[in-house]
Amino acid sequence: AADWAKASLDAVRKVDGELEAFLTVDEDAALSRAKATTTGQGVLAGVPYALKDNICTQGMLTTAASRILENYIPPYNATVANLLNDAGGVLIGKTNLDEFAMGSTTETSAFKKTKNPYAKGRVPGGSSGGSAAAVAAGIVPFALGSDTGGSIRQPAAFCGVFGLKPTYGRVSRYGLIAFASSLDQIGPFTNTAEDAAIVMNAISGYDKYDSTSAKVEREDFTQDLELGVKGLRIGIVRNLPEEGLNPAVKQAVDAAIRKLEGEGATVVEVDLPHSEYAVATYYLIAPAEASSNLSRYDGVRFGRRAEAKSMIDMFEQSRSQGFGMEVKRRIIIGTYALSSGYYDAYYKRAQQMRTLIRRDYEQAFEQCDVILMPTTPTTAFPFGEKSDDPLAMYLNDIYTIPANLAGIPGASVPCGFVDGLPVGLQVLAKPFAERTILRVAHAYE
Ligand code: GLN
Repeated sequence: AADWAKASLDAVRKVDGELEAFLTVDEDAALSRAKATTTGQGVLAGVPYALKDNICTQGMLTTAASRILENYIPPYNATVANLLNDAGGVLIGKTNLDEFAMGSTTETSAFKKTKNPYAKGRVPGGSSGGSAAAVAAGIVPFALGSDTGGSIRQPAAFCGVFGLKPTYGRVSRYGLIAFASSLDQIGPFTNTAEDAAIVMNAISGYDKYDSTSAKVEREDFTQDLELGVKGLRIGIVRNLPEEGLNPAVKQAVDAAIRKLEGEGATVVEVDLPHSEYAVATYYLIAPAEASSNLSRYDGVRFGRRAEAKSMIDMFEQSRSQGFGMEVKRRIIIGTYALSSGYYDAYYKRAQQMRTLIRRDYEQAFEQCDVILMPTTPTTAFPFGEKSDDPLAMYLNDIYTIPANLAGIPGASVPCGFVDGLPVGLQVLAKPFAERTILRVAHAYE
């Protein structure tokens, strides 16, 4: 275990100067953890890993990549951090993200710009860009991220690794710094579906500290891996919105579907008639919840406090100096959507549309076991390309957002390259059918 931790820490020293995937690395803590692990702890004993820096770690800086939390050291561990500890995992460090997980490129981090390991001039995706890059660069065999509208699947696609967003409620959110509580879900980045199944075995399960945690039986996520896809029904979406979809990405995904068909799966067409409203719906609900969740950062209870003459001034200054542009944009949109005069017109309508989108998926999964589509419309794009155009940035999430609105699980599976950049095949299934997703991914790999 100690050798493995050392190898991982050496890899940080060697590549992370340029890659900038990590915000915090605690060598001493990692080495002493490694020495304390015993094989009896199971398959994760001594395995180095990283956590996105919005997952609380006791005694270790947890910033959410925000100035407002730049000096925040949590007094407790997130449930997932405890579970990985118990399973013998060795935490190497905390990874970069878009500030408070708001973004699709990791560019809104207040601290650094993580590079895509395949092309240093391009974004790693986001918001869990640091975790995706750390696995893709071989620094750690797995890392955790969080996915509110695609933040595990999209960077997994851009960095050419496997990423899974579990069913809402499957993995405890206790100790995850909240962005949009009804959408947030923690999940793994790995090299293979099998590795993801092993990590899922360690991190999933009911948690009394998370009131939205699902009371479902623990299961062995590796159980169905070898079943293959023979007889499985693959749904492909009729009239999938194709605005901005790179034809080469579409080709790579079509080829992946044909490969699975060749292995005995059958393809059926399904309808998701409300897909075109998903992005608009998400960008009301997510900012609304964010505006409420972020009201706790007032300079009093957490992190940074600005010098000021009066208390109100202190609140104002702490928040103006502590939050970046994208976070402020979301707080303003969310506060507006929730204000009494506009609540019915925006927030309520968005909730109604969310129900319709969830029903679309329920109906589609009566006809198929999984739905396949691209994870993202394009491959990783250059830094700065979309950072001045929030709408173009938001449209990048068109294929990932519906899973969060519907609460269903989804994964991104590497499915080839376009011009040297990885493409992701997205695999969606009905609630709690992660095993079917892992089975399809494993058959494809
Ligand atoms: N890119 C989306 C957003 O900016 C999703 C982020 C996420 O999943 N955390 O909100």
